[in-house]
Amino acid sequence: MIGLVDCNSFYVSCERVFQPRLRRLPVGVMSNNDGCVIALSNELKATGITMGTPAFEIQHLARQGRIHLLSSNYELYGDMSQRVQSVLEEFSPGVEPYSIDEMFVRFGGFTSDQMLEHARQLHDRVRQYTGIPVCVGVAPTRTLAKFANRAAKKIPAYRGVCVLQADSAETKALLQRFELGDLWGVGRRLVERLAIIGIRTGWDLAQADPKRIRQQFSVTLERTALELRGISCIEMNDFHEPRQRIMTSRSFGKLTDNVGEIREAMRQHGQRGAEKLRSQGSLARAVLVFLKTNPFRQDLPQYTPSAVLELPRPTDDSREILHAAGQALQRIYRKGYLFQKGGVMLLDLVDASRQQLSLLDTPQSDTDRQRSAKLMNVIDDLNRTMGRGTVKLGTPSPGAAWHLRCANLTQRYTTRWGELPVAKSQ
Ligand SMILES: [Mg+2]
Repeated sequence: MIGLVDCNSFYVSCERVFQPRLRRLPVGVMSNNDGCVIALSNELKATGITMGTPAFEIQHLARQGRIHLLSSNYELYGDMSQRVQSVLEEFSPGVEPYSIDEMFVRFGGFTSDQMLEHARQLHDRVRQYTGIPVCVGVAPTRTLAKFANRAAKKIPAYRGVCVLQADSAETKALLQRFELGDLWGVGRRLVERLAIIGIRTGWDLAQADPKRIRQQFSVTLERTALELRGISCIEMNDFHEPRQRIMTSRSFGKLTDNVGEIREAMRQHGQRGAEKLRSQGSLARAVLVFLKTNPFRQDLPQYTPSAVLELPRPTDDSREILHAAGQALQRIYRKGYLFQKGGVMLLDLVDASRQQLSLLDTPQSDTDRQRSAKLMNVIDDLNRTMGRGTVKLGTPSPGAAWHLRCANLTQRYTTRWGELPVAKSQ
């Protein structure tokens, strides 16, 4: 069985751990530089404010104390994500980060009753140890696990934990109840095309003839249909969720502690991720880098670190992304561990076309941006026509020198000695 653990309103939840007064209040986290909302608590969503709302439009509400806006504190979020992952690792050796707030967990050898009990324990333990509320979905395949997670989140009776078997009446009822667009990898345009041939729910898709789905749509959708029946055929990197996050990761092919080799692999991941970013017309706001030792070699010391770095501004420039990835790697690499796998994740994507110029933008940085776009275009063209890897970047130029620190930035409570939370007695 595969579990998907998803942290609820993750950035806001991280802030609330250290500022309990924010619980049950409408809280938003803003991007530092362009000043729009990138994460919302449920209470803030209920006011009608949406993801991407420019901060200046709602500043007056914050001044009146009706809502609370914080600057993004990626160092804190990255560390809290790591803590959630360590708790999950107590429950299973097979934990894979899927994004900063979602992780896949493999389970083996449980009856379905035991599985539910185990998942419930894991759910409670993460909350108890880290303060972060999560939802847990467990099922035989990734697509169903993601779906179970959605059910756990949407249906209060599950109390945050939903375990689905492939052919159960419960799974059938849920698949009939949720819309197709709620399924992983089924975008809005697909929903419309599927409706034409009478496929309206996840259950319809699971019952459809897979060959027909492949012929009329794609292999990807055929796999989704099979996964809904409990037949596992999707691996992690197969999932494309444009505009959320881009992940490039791979096993090193052998266990290695050679920092040079690891750095080179990460540079390739970073560069590949940046290419994907440009091809889908997005910019990233932050970079997450992770490493993993081999969990099946319990005779060796285990270490699965990750770190997140905020980019000076939303960007698709390979140089800025590689620079941040390099810094993140430097922060997490330790001698004495044999690493099996590593990856780079680009987070908090935004449409390049919708990206508003930040107030700090000067004509100079505008020129920089155009130059960067030109250079990246040339690199992508060469790599496309002459073969991947024709142009690789050498040592990156140091990133942008300026960095906007926003007044609403909370402390990096868990990663800086000088910023530890202080407990005061009354
Ligand atoms: Mg989440």
